Amino acid sequence: MLPDYHLHTSLCRHATGTARAYKAVAQRRGLPEIAFTDHMPNPDGHDPDQRMTLEEWSLYQQMVMELQAPGAPRVLFGGEADYYEGCERFLRPFLASTAFDVVIGSIHCLGDWCFDNPAELQRWAAVDVEGVWRAYFELLGRFAGSGLVDVVGHLDLPKKFGHRPGDHIVRELAQPALDRIAAAELCIEINTAGLRKPVQEIYPSAMLLALARERNISICFGSDAHRPEEVGYNFEAALRLAKEAGYTEAVRFAARRKTAYPLP
Ligand code: ZN
Ligand code: FE
Ligand code: FE
Ligand code: ZN
Repeated sequence: MLPDYHLHTSLCRHATGTARAYKAVAQRRGLPEIAFTDHMPNPDGHDPDQRMTLEEWSLYQQMVMELQAPGAPRVLFGGEADYYEGCERFLRPFLASTAFDVVIGSIHCLGDWCFDNPAELQRWAAVDVEGVWRAYFELLGRFAGSGLVDVVGHLDLPKKFGHRPGDHIVRELAQPALDRIAAAELCIEINTAGLRKPVQEIYPSAMLLALARERNISICFGSDAHRPEEVGYNFEAALRLAKEAGYTEAVRFAARRKTAYPLP
């Protein structure tokens, strides 16, 4: 089994289960390592219903740290940070003040629209789909070089509900962002949550993963579990996708440093 680097907990208000419950499933399924990467608090009022409050942050730390006993699975402390216009002001000092093993950076919202939120799905009907993808990759490219995070979360999240321009357009829009991800030596995750969504496809697509491989961008694996039973969700498919793209190794993290391991 592979490490799972993307787990949420009930603290984020749209997941269920304590950290202990996720660890129990990981143990039962034989995962060597897991990283808790719950949605980090945000004092700017960014998407407030999808995250813990600043006051709850120490609870989260405590809940994860007390699982860090010797033995399998190893438990890493992480977070999923949101990239948005102006996020550095809060994120840079916040990230520096906590001893993370790994930090995922994700874009879930463009302006006031959280495009992956089922409650805001109807807005897709009123937008130019290609324009959304363009804005998404422009924002991602801008943040890739910021040095804020270690891993880019769900690289092609705008496809979640099936809104996607043709492959040639996605390729053209994604390439500058991928160039910056490569230059910043960021890792991207192979995230199996997409298989549980209307698009029914892993993030990123095989096409985008091939472009990442060409640029020697490193990978890790994440289920983006929002329920304990989702730990390690369909990692067989994730491993297959990675190998088909030509990957022979993935990376693990500790204290925000990555080391490579060979794929099984
Ligand atoms: Zn979530
Ligand atoms: Fe996310
Ligand atoms: Fe997540
Ligand atoms: Zn996520």
